[in-house]
Amino acid sequence: TIAIDNVSKSFGSLNVLSQVDFTIAQGEFAAIVGPSGCGKSTVLRMIAGLETASTGAVKANGTPITAPDPSRMLIFQEHALYPWRTVAKNVAFGLELSGVSKKEWSIRVNEVLDKVGLSGFQKYYPHQLSGGMRQRAAIARALVTDPEVLLLDEPFGALDAITKISMQNELLRLWEGTGKTVLLITHDIDEAIYLADTIYVMSPRPGQIVERISTEMPRPRNRNGA
Ligand code: ATP
Ligand code: MG
Repeated sequence: TIAIDNVSKSFGSLNVLSQVDFTIAQGEFAAIVGPSGCGKSTVLRMIAGLETASTGAVKANGTPITAPDPSRMLIFQEHALYPWRTVAKNVAFGLELSGVSKKEWSIRVNEVLDKVGLSGFQKYYPHQLSGGMRQRAAIARALVTDPEVLLLDEPFGALDAITKISMQNELLRLWEGTGKTVLLITHDIDEAIYLADTIYVMSPRPGQIVERISTEMPRPRNRNGA
């Protein structure tokens, strides 16, 4: 469970977040939508442990988050892969921070590349991949440590509509039944409705949660084997 307890955040005199308060249960798929600059990425970076609250607390399973941890993986808005590293080496980077023994690395890397449909691309460099493939490599890098919490900052923003839909379905497939907690930031309301159980709407200056929407309709896929 991720708890954002009455969090406010200022950068100097700029009040970026004001009394943001919500909880994401384990296994829940939540989304944040809101205009550019309202503080969405700031919320995500706090959960990732890259930023601290000015007041209030951000907790994972009841413990205050003070630093990044392999159990909570953030996929950045810019989803930068290291251009000088191959796909396999980019994905293995996630393991450098974890306790996984080096002997196991290539097994884990191959497993996770297979999951995102990139088996066979281990030796490719990022510039040799399409945008959608790079995005999948970034997701593989986040998944390789088998994190409890997946934080996605506009992961599909730059993709064409068709690739986007297949990536959305892939993400659902990777999430469903795993008990992983997902928090997705998106500008695409349809995407939020399609993917998330709960949608938080933020307004800017200062960033606040103004609405919480439960998407109660069953998702139109996989549920009856269709
Ligand atoms: P977008 O949709 O454009 O990605 P966002 O909702 O993710 O926007 P944030 O990146 O969270 O917005 O930024 C919110 C505000 O906080 C912006 O005004 C930004 O300039 C400011 N901000 C974020 N990080 C810092 C920082 N490290 N130092 C100073 N100001 C910051
Ligand atoms: Mg952002």
